[in-house]
Amino acid sequence: MTTFPSSLASRTVSDPDVLARYAVDESLGATAPEHFEVVRARDLDDVVEVLRWAQETRTPVVPQGARSGLAGGSVALEGGVVLNLEGLDSIVEVDPLESLAVCGPGPVTADLKAAAAEAGLFYPPDPASSGFCTIGGNVATNAGGLCCVKYGVTADYVKALQVVLPGGEVIRTGHRTAKGVAGLDLTGLFVGSEGTLGVVTEVTVRLVPAPDPALTALATFDSLDAASRGIVALRLERHRPSLLELLDGPTIAAVQAIADFGFPVDCAAALIVQSDRPGHTAQDAHRYAALLTEAGATDVAVADDPQESEALLAGRRALHHALVAKGPHFIEDVCVPVGQLTALIAAGGDISARTGVEITMSGHGGDGNLHPSLFFDPREPGSRERAEAAFAELVAVALAMGGTITGEHGVGSLKSRWLPDEVGAASIARQRALKAVFDPQGILNPGRVYW
Ligand SMILES: Cc1cc2nc3c(=O)[nH]c(=O)nc-3n(C[C@H](O)[C@H](O)[C@H](O)COP(=O)(O)OP(=O)(O)OC[C@H]3O[C@@H](n4cnc5c(N)ncnc54)[C@H](O)[C@@H]3O)c2cc1C
Repeated sequence: MTTFPSSLASRTVSDPDVLARYAVDESLGATAPEHFEVVRARDLDDVVEVLRWAQETRTPVVPQGARSGLAGGSVALEGGVVLNLEGLDSIVEVDPLESLAVCGPGPVTADLKAAAAEAGLFYPPDPASSGFCTIGGNVATNAGGLCCVKYGVTADYVKALQVVLPGGEVIRTGHRTAKGVAGLDLTGLFVGSEGTLGVVTEVTVRLVPAPDPALTALATFDSLDAASRGIVALRLERHRPSLLELLDGPTIAAVQAIADFGFPVDCAAALIVQSDRPGHTAQDAHRYAALLTEAGATDVAVADDPQESEALLAGRRALHHALVAKGPHFIEDVCVPVGQLTALIAAGGDISARTGVEITMSGHGGDGNLHPSLFFDPREPGSRERAEAAFAELVAVALAMGGTITGEHGVGSLKSRWLPDEVGAASIARQRALKAVFDPQGILNPGRVYW
């Protein structure tokens, strides 16, 4: 590897243990390459310098936030540089009049949400990883999360960006104003581009008026069909829930195995639903409970206050840890039309029965975006391969239902082989041509997404 400019020497990492921490994200099976460098950028100049040098030396660059990604998008590449952006973590302003906030890519999502709340405003995107992922990573993956059913995804809140392109050129996209239609929507192009077009160094987000503290209802069911009916009933409600999460029986058993979150262990599914509608949370929560009872819930609990609400949601928040504790697994991220949810769940059951691969079903049921987890035993020959094959089957099922291969985690390196199946060869060709406009030498996150 060509030597870095001396100006970056203090930003690089030499300790092998520290280096290893920056090598992988949360995707299953990600491994560190043999040779790679890490630069922990501290300001815009560092980013410009890295991208100028990388273009000159044709060195691959992996932009990186907090490495919570589940698609392998921020994993180090052989002979490349990991450009970590966590240090660009200032929240520059929160402007109540314009209803916006400006920040670097590095703040943890929860910190931006807290800064907005201090000003009496709300930054809605709420990935389950919001306590440790970064805004830059959220923008690059167009992150979703628990409140999309009412509030949408990260793209719905990004107004403007500052982006550094390969070669070091700095551009601005979008606008701060309430409206603005000047030129092509490059902001929309960069959001969700998974570090393949440019490095995001500043983000301007839209804020909305603060909702009320949410009230939760938790319903359990003796069949997944009944739970699906409940989701459909709630989706059709005039006042949409602010959260609508699904856990199937095996997921509940895994959650209860790490601590007692109050779920009955013998139920087939649970739905957790919230309302944050100002002045109406109790009314909505009781209405949702009644609809879920009508759909076939065997038991429904409604929280009386925000503390009880959090307690009812605690099992959902513990989900990732519970599944990790259960054993090695692939995490799916398929999203189908909500009307196909029952069929998706049934297909998962069929695949599991046919292949012997244990599959738990959980996720953002209100969006039709499930995260089936496919378990395997690394000691058993062929077990991992069977889980991988079942994973591919689920992707195919989702596509056949008019769904997508990834609702929110991104394509990264994990799902790039299926992208042509979803978007078609002509679209892939145009996507590659667009990449060449911003990154003619293909140094940014090469081999990922639409490769
Ligand atoms: C327990 C758990 C729960 C999760 N829950 C959710 C969820 O509910 N919803 C959801 O959407 N995701 C979820 N995720 C996935 C992950 O947290 C998101 O994808 C998140 O947006 C990644 O942010 P990050 O800062 O960790 O980025 P990283 O993982 O470091 O990077 C992700 C991608 O963004 C690119 N990138 C990062 N920063 C920049 C930048 N400044 N400029 C350009 N490109 C950049 C990287 O190259 C990579 O392609 C979850 C993950 C875990 C581990």
